Amino acid sequence: RGICRFSTAVANEEPITPPVQVNHTQLLINGQFVDASSGKTFPTLDPRTGEVIAQVAEGGAEDINRAVSAARKAFDEGPWPKMTSYERSQIIFRFADLLEKHSDEIAALETWDNGKPYEQAKQAEIPMLIRVFRYYAGWADKIHGLTIPVDGPYHVQTLHEPIGVAGQIIPWNFPLLMYAWKVAPALACGNSVVLKTAEQTPLSALYVSKLFHEAGLPPGVLNVVSGFGPTAGAALCSHMDVDKLAFTGSTDTGKIVLELAAKSNLKPVTLELGGKSPFIVCEDADIDKAVELAHFALFFNQGQCCCAGSRTFVHERVYNEFVEKAKARALKRVVGDPFKKGIEQGPQIDSKQFEKILRYIRSGIESGATLESGGERIGSKGYYIQPTVFSNVQDDMLIAKDEIFGPVQSILKFKNLDEVIRRANATHYGLAAGVFTQDIDTANTLTRALKAGTVWINCFDVFDAAIPFGGYKMSGHGREKGIYCLNNYLQVKAVVTPLKNP
Ligand code: ADP
Repeated sequence: RGICRFSTAVANEEPITPPVQVNHTQLLINGQFVDASSGKTFPTLDPRTGEVIAQVAEGGAEDINRAVSAARKAFDEGPWPKMTSYERSQIIFRFADLLEKHSDEIAALETWDNGKPYEQAKQAEIPMLIRVFRYYAGWADKIHGLTIPVDGPYHVQTLHEPIGVAGQIIPWNFPLLMYAWKVAPALACGNSVVLKTAEQTPLSALYVSKLFHEAGLPPGVLNVVSGFGPTAGAALCSHMDVDKLAFTGSTDTGKIVLELAAKSNLKPVTLELGGKSPFIVCEDADIDKAVELAHFALFFNQGQCCCAGSRTFVHERVYNEFVEKAKARALKRVVGDPFKKGIEQGPQIDSKQFEKILRYIRSGIESGATLESGGERIGSKGYYIQPTVFSNVQDDMLIAKDEIFGPVQSILKFKNLDEVIRRANATHYGLAAGVFTQDIDTANTLTRALKAGTVWINCFDVFDAAIPFGGYKMSGHGREKGIYCLNNYLQVKAVVTPLKNP
């Protein structure tokens, strides 16, 4: 198998004590930390060890009712929509300043609950969290309608109004980024929010939401309920007094969310779901750069990205060289305690995902793909998995079709552009795609032909608060971030007035 830097010792060493304490474990409803009505709690675990970090209040349907009433009151009667948009914008800017001030603790909490490398949380995720809030704080006082000339003696204008109470459900892979993508545009547009965090990662959202209140957010405007999907999550989706839903998670759960919304009050739903994104390496590509980028596209965040480049298509002329180098790169990947310096990969989120990934690895081997590197867990404690590379992957293998959500790279060979376009699009997903080429015509051809919400050319995972993100096909409905996201949280009211003297 070769020598790799993920030694089996890593996971057995004593984990580093996180430089942060857990202060908030209750539900945040109407500006107060409160217990669940049932009094129930659930443990949130440290993915490095599987040990309990803290017991967290377990919100259920009753708590969702309490949170929705608080959000309703804050929207209908409370100060939020009655403030000027500039005042709202100032509160969001102040919140961003507090996030910056506390970014060390926030990153530590995120790493502890999620397992992602602290350095990545600190240098990539937290700055983006702050940037997204500042971006939408900037929008808050620039949202307005149009004046429209019509065929008749009428003055016609549109008002862009907040929708009301937004229900938002987020996953565990980027707890705070998902928080930002949901909460920032909703509040900037003047809505109130009930947010249900993922049961695996409830801590960081509670911590930062407390800071939001310190920044002047009035009670009830943002309510955070920890709890499970089929209970708290489903109650939010079915609630008759929730005016809009935004969900990020798996495609299967997205279908349930849409159904619950339709069966209750037909609230509009935006969905950001799974993916099986192609990363296409053309024959003219700089192979060393392509290998590095394809590696990043798949392994970033322990492979737990909905847009991961999880089908690496490589042109037959450069295929052998690419496979050798991709294997060498995976063997060099530094896996270990995410609080340590220089760590590229931490543990997977929990035992369920860990077992699922190992099942997919077995399925890859059984279906005849060539295991180039990795394939096993690391150590005997926590959820660490060796960076795994398969070559000779065929389109009909499960590892080429399903979203694995782990550190497993599948390399497929192609002969020409028409073929790779057909194969890249032969999936129900359509979230993202990567294209690696030095030829502008090849890049243009692929960009136009690929059915995906984002195409990264000679780069990957470039996110910016202003760039829209979302999926074609079963990868979702609607776009988040950028100007496009504002529409998700606004109603358009047409106002028509006769003109006396046209
Ligand atoms: P995963 O399988 O990766 O945990 P999910 O799509 O199940 O992905 O989870 C994403 C979010 O959806 C989490 O906050 C989870 O609690 C929530 N969720 C899961 N099931 C449901 C459901 N039936 N209704 C509403 N939300 C749900």
